[in-house]
Amino acid sequence: MESYSRVLSNDQLLEVLSLSKDATAIYTSEHIVIEMANDAMISFWGKDRSIIGKPLEDAVPELKGQPFINMLKNVLLTGVTDKGDAIPAETMRDGKLQTAYYTYEYRPIKDESGIPYCILHTASDVTDMVKAKKAIKETELQREALDQEQMLISIKEEQQKNDFISMVSHELKTPLTSISAYIQLMQSRNLADLFVVNTLGKVQKQIRKMSTLISSFLNVSRLESGEIQLNLSHFDLDKVILDVVDDLRLIYPANHINFESHIAKSIYADKDKIASVISNLISNAVKYSDLNSTVLIQSEISENEVHVSVTDHGIGIEPHDLEKLFDRFFRVSSQQTKTISGFGIGLYLSAEIINLHQGRIWAESDYGVGSSFHFCVPLAQADNV
Ligand code: ADP
Repeated sequence: MESYSRVLSNDQLLEVLSLSKDATAIYTSEHIVIEMANDAMISFWGKDRSIIGKPLEDAVPELKGQPFINMLKNVLLTGVTDKGDAIPAETMRDGKLQTAYYTYEYRPIKDESGIPYCILHTASDVTDMVKAKKAIKETELQREALDQEQMLISIKEEQQKNDFISMVSHELKTPLTSISAYIQLMQSRNLADLFVVNTLGKVQKQIRKMSTLISSFLNVSRLESGEIQLNLSHFDLDKVILDVVDDLRLIYPANHINFESHIAKSIYADKDKIASVISNLISNAVKYSDLNSTVLIQSEISENEVHVSVTDHGIGIEPHDLEKLFDRFFRVSSQQTKTISGFGIGLYLSAEIINLHQGRIWAESDYGVGSSFHFCVPLAQADNV
């Protein structure tokens, strides 16, 4: 049997190295002479095989001014491996100097006494990967910039919308206040004509509704520009509920608005704003129920808060709509609600007011049977009373 030669010739060594997927080269002497390089390495440099046997800086002159030759000399001097990931290097590609990225290793090969006598250089071209990563990063940055720009635009648009709502509301309020004053003047004239008296009463009612609506719009714009502040004082909650109920009984004489007060419940809150929440909940209970239906208001103390609930026997709310009720401009869209006017801001404002009081507001409903709206606000603390 033929025995194999145990010493590889240079050509055989080159053949073995050329099978390696990594670009490989071997350098010797302090002048970093290319002892051997496989095709992959030669193509990285953009040269041909004639460079073998030449010092690296002569063979690949574009490496001058780049740190690699000094790094190789250093490896030979210190005997310490040098490696790096995705390092940029200027190399000749298609006749042009181009930046490519390499992951490389310069490994010193030492003799028995530990002195390095050559360097094994392996490298892989990771330019495509680096470029892909850069492209992804750039797209992300662009998207972020776009998102930010979009956000600024929507904040600005929101601001303009709020300014507009606020301006229109102010403009509408002024003539309405005058109309209301004229009506009151006419009503004070002890009119004999019953029709006129009744009609004036109805006009006044509509004016009040419109006025409440305009105020709600104004409050939305104030709230969104952070202008709403609580005007806190101590008061009896049940007294406020009674006042609101008395008022609403006049507006909705056909409905039965029931409220029984048992004990005084002192809270430290913004009286007008809490009154507007109660008024809104009762008005909704009437609005979304049949004429003549009953609305029940209850208030009770539980632990250190008061709990108010407004229960109706109206159209009810489907479970999937319940969680959206307190969103700005949300209205349930159904055949029944189509004919009932509203803007979907009452509950939004109510929730904001209750939240400002560190309270909670929520709704429960049995669709087709009725709903109850609840809120809790803290009782006046003993040291506040
Ligand atoms: P608006 O009544 O002006 O539309 P709200 O913010 O007060 O605005 O209410 C939001 C929506 O919640 C209403 O459009 C209505 O669909 C629903 N809703 C509120 N209260 C009730 C209720 N008591 N019964 C049934 N649906 C209600």
